[in-house]
This record gives sequence, C-alpha cells and structure tokens, in this order.
Amino acid sequence: MKLDAPLIAGEVALVGAGPGAAALLTLAAARLIADCDVIVHDALVSDEVMAMAAPDAEIIAAGKRGGRPSASQSDICDLLIARAQAGKRVVRLKGGDPFVFGRGGEEVRALAAHGIRFRIIPGITAGVAAPAMAGIPVTDRSVNATLAFLTGHEASDESRMDWRALVSAFPVLVFYMGARNLERIGSCLLDAGLDAETAVAIIHAATTRDEHTTIGTLQQAAAGQLQALSPAIVIIGDVVASRTIWRDKS
Ligand code: SAH
Repeated sequence: MKLDAPLIAGEVALVGAGPGAAALLTLAAARLIADCDVIVHDALVSDEVMAMAAPDAEIIAAGKRGGRPSASQSDICDLLIARAQAGKRVVRLKGGDPFVFGRGGEEVRALAAHGIRFRIIPGITAGVAAPAMAGIPVTDRSVNATLAFLTGHEASDESRMDWRALVSAFPVLVFYMGARNLERIGSCLLDAGLDAETAVAIIHAATTRDEHTTIGTLQQAAAGQLQALSPAIVIIGDVVASRTIWRDKS
C-alpha cells in the first residue's frame, strides 16, 4: 500500500504528528494533513502542524489533556465513524506515534468493527525525539542493551508497577506523562535500590519554541527539586550523563 496515496472517501488515516516541529512530520503525514476533509486532533499536536491543514478542512479538537475536560474515548471513536460513514476523508492526528501511549489501538479496533477502511502512519515518538533534542542517545553501547518506555501515570498506582524488577532489567527508563508524578517516580526508584546519584533529564516541549531541558539526580527528583512542566519526557539512567550538545566555540 502506498502510504501517502490520497485518502479515498470514507477512509480514516490514523496519523502520527511527531513531537511538535512540522519538520519532523513524515511525508505521508504532511500530504494527508494537507489533503483531507476532516482532521480530528489531540491537544499535543502543535499549531505549526495544524497550520498545514487545507483551509477548507473541518478541524475538530478532541484532545485528552491531563486534568482538563475533554472528549471521551468512545465519543472520539463515534465521531470518526460518523464522519467516515458520511463519506469524508478523515485524518485522526495524534502527537508522536499513534500507537505509543496514544490509544490508537482502541480507535482502529472501533473502525474495524464498523467495517471502516483505515491506514496507520507512524510518527516520531516523543520518548525518542525529546532525548535526541537534548543530546541524549536513548541507547549507548557502553550503558544499555535494553530500554523501557513507561507511562508515569502508573506511578500513582503501585499495584501495576514492580519497581525492583524494572530497575534490575532496564538501565534506562523513559517516562511519558511523568512530569506531574516526578517526585513519586523518584522515590519509588530510590526505594527500589536505584543509586541516588543516577542522572535524570526532564525535556519539556521538545522540538517546539518552548523546549527546555532540566538535568539533575534521582535524589533531587525525589525531593521535588527539579522543575517538571508538562508535557515532558523524563529519562533516567547513565545515558543522561553522556549527554553531548553542540556548543559554538567561536
Ligand atoms: N503518542 C505520543 C505520546 C502521547 S502521551 C508519542 O508517541 O509521543 C503524552 C506524553 O507524551 C506527554 O505527557 C509527554 O510525556 C510526551 N510528549 C509528547 N510530546 C512531547 C514533547 N514535544 N516534548 C516532551 N514530551 C512530549
């Protein structure tokens, strides 16, 4: 299947919008955003990306954003189904990659159950892009052969996380949605035996003009001494210590 072929009437594309900068869209994402009838987008999709929509496209904000009222997941699925059944060419636009902590799986299951044709366009996920923007390789041969992507939401529900097993299996942890639970994540990891001096990076609004990186230690994270604004990726492990950024020496 040609991923960037125009949508047909009644088709839905579940499209990854990447971390924010329009330059990080895939070619397929850029083409479908510019040529569709309806865009249903998340709160995390940047204004720069939304500016690429066709002027006559119907734009529907359906974002889930922690703490604020937003459309329920079943309302979003119903909306996609209704527009597709009306013969519209629909782009469902999600931050990062649609299948990484993005409920994309639920949406395509609903579409499939209604016999609606769909395609999936992967996007660059924030858990990889944000560390990269901060000069942090998520894998480094001298540090880790494994890597865990986690949601920080789980930190508030201890029953779902075996912190000791996590710490022993994964030298590098990348948390999505971790900013608001940072202290709790930090103290759970300390309790699980991770060294208090382990490096932590918090990368806020990566690839946008608000991008900001905070570097500290696990001890500081647990003590609430590190600034953590949402949205942010929190990366914990020795790869943070090998951060390398360009500095103009002229
Ligand atoms: N599907 C998305 C993740 C959605 S969950 C993806 O693949 O990237 C939402 C979380 O993603 C946020 O809480 C934050 O942790 C992260 N995130 C998304 N965009 C980000 C950005 N530009 N900078 C830092 N973190 C980001």
